Amino acid sequence: MTSRADFRSDTVTKPSRAMRAAMASAEVGDAVYDDCPTTKRLEAMAAELLGKESALFFPTGTQSNLAGLMAHCGRGDEYIVGQHAHTYRNEGGGAAVLGSIQPQPLPNEADGTIALDAIVGAIKPADFHHPVSRLLTLEDTFSGSVLPDGYLQEATDVARAHGLATHLDGARMMNAAIASGRDPAWIAGWFDTVSLCLSKGLGAPVGSLLAGPRETIEKARRIRKMLGGGMRQTGVLAAAGIYALEHNVARLGDDHRRADRLARALSAFPPLGAGEARTNMVFMTPHEDVDVSAFRRHLADRGIILGDGYGTMRWVTHLDIDDAAIDLVDQACAEFFAPASGPVRRWAGAQRALKEV
Ligand SMILES: *Cc1c(COP(=O)(O)O)cnc(C)c1O
Repeated sequence: MTSRADFRSDTVTKPSRAMRAAMASAEVGDAVYDDCPTTKRLEAMAAELLGKESALFFPTGTQSNLAGLMAHCGRGDEYIVGQHAHTYRNEGGGAAVLGSIQPQPLPNEADGTIALDAIVGAIKPADFHHPVSRLLTLEDTFSGSVLPDGYLQEATDVARAHGLATHLDGARMMNAAIASGRDPAWIAGWFDTVSLCLSKGLGAPVGSLLAGPRETIEKARRIRKMLGGGMRQTGVLAAAGIYALEHNVARLGDDHRRADRLARALSAFPPLGAGEARTNMVFMTPHEDVDVSAFRRHLADRGIILGDGYGTMRWVTHLDIDDAAIDLVDQACAEFFAPASGPVRRWAGAQRALKEV
């Protein structure tokens, strides 16, 4: 389907003309032989940006996270993770299936944190009955929310105090960095390893990076090979990643501003139950009397699509969503809730629409 405004995810961005030009002219070599200059340049850039010794290019964030978890945990070890975290819920159970790592999921609070006492309570004593608690994994941003600064320190301190390693699923950590004004290396600095997606808001077609200490990253290189992620002339993909890091980080602020505009536009229609923007996302839970499928059809007829599957409806802003796309949504909502004729009076219209459904 062609759409004018695809709000399903920031993964739907298409590489720009300039990014494609960078890909077309990339110098390449065999990256499995560690012989691809463009891939090495991207890895060096990422290591520096995240303040780590080393970084490694992966095809996906799923593989980058898994290689990170497996580099920290051996067979029968355990990792502590939020039960709504991507690594636990949305990566096919790879840690357990492929890594033989037992997940210890814990409730996520509304802001994406895991309560510190829950973490401490889940760390197993050194006793042969228990799996060995080896790793704490956090996610930032978490459903668009930026983890509080103080929490990053407290949670990773607790982990370190108990001898656990720390991994950040930082798929969207650049959104967190831009929203909080923190240096990405400051965020990454609390963790041993960090996974960063190039294919979300940064707009590359493919790619993630795992960054951390040299020794851990070399372990992850072997694991990547084992997982089938040893790719050859990756320079064409890495060139897109370099372009993304050079051109598409600061502009994430535009996505956040547009998400904020979108949240305010949606809030003018209270039955939609829209929440406030969290970085580049807006979640809404329409009131029971809104005909959600009619609403979706109404939007789709105007070229607007949005996501679901998070127990709610999700709007995500990104490179290919401009101000006109937000205007389009605003107008589409006004039409949906407006009386069939006469001036568009939003709240009156909304109430009338509610009575009709
Ligand atoms: C997208 C995403 C990943 C990685 O997903 P891939 O599609 O495998 O690149 C990991 N964690 C979070 C939070 C994500 O949003």
